[in-house]
Amino acid sequence: MGTLGGLRRWPELVGDESSLLVDTVAPGVLRLSEAVVSERERAYFYLLIGHDADCLIDGGWGFCSSLDALRPDRSKPLLAIATHSHFDHIGLLHLAGTRYGHPAEAAVFADPHPVATQALPYLDGLEALAGGGRIDPASVRQRACPLDALLAEGGTVDIGGRALTVLHTPGHSPGSLTILDAANGLLFCADVVHDGHIWDDIPGTDRGALLRSHDRLLEVDFALACPGHGAILSRAAFQDRIARYRRDIGA
Ligand SMILES: [Zn+2]
Ligand SMILES: [Zn+2]
Repeated sequence: MGTLGGLRRWPELVGDESSLLVDTVAPGVLRLSEAVVSERERAYFYLLIGHDADCLIDGGWGFCSSLDALRPDRSKPLLAIATHSHFDHIGLLHLAGTRYGHPAEAAVFADPHPVATQALPYLDGLEALAGGGRIDPASVRQRACPLDALLAEGGTVDIGGRALTVLHTPGHSPGSLTILDAANGLLFCADVVHDGHIWDDIPGTDRGALLRSHDRLLEVDFALACPGHGAILSRAAFQDRIARYRRDIGA
């Protein structure tokens, strides 16, 4: 069948910065993803350039060894805010000197076992790679990315010229965070709202909490939503996506 030829080991998929797909969302805001992952499974993460520090929001699957080539001034600290601990968002968080996230998922960041991150059983048999290859489930390894500082509702991170406010928006996971850059009209909403399947029936999810989080986010003023999957959304498209989710689940 030739399927074994399409089975790749996780470590051999790691490349350098040239393996990343990079778009500019706004001045000083890059959207990153990993070309080795299929378009369907790809996760988006973001690099924000500040005057005093740069900040990653999430870290993809982890198929990149460095982000240095994307940073105009590498002498500045690199921080990271983790929206949640699923495997497709934590891979490069270990590159940051200081990591922020919600206490409810701290144990997973400290020990990202593939079952705890939900990489397994999800990846077993899945054609997750560009071109249709699969990842050997026994090879799934992600670097520990323990939190250095805890963020909860109302927390802030200021990287100089860019202030980020944290909303605790549970439901997709217990510690899901949504990050608001109010001055620039940007909302980083990871897997809480995106134009794809919104997972609400896997371990750690809570549909009622997710509906309440959506209610809250409908009240937030912003221009562009930058999700963890799929296209960047206008506020109107973001609101439509929430309405469609509600119709789909009969809420
Ligand atoms: Zn997720
Ligand atoms: Zn995801």
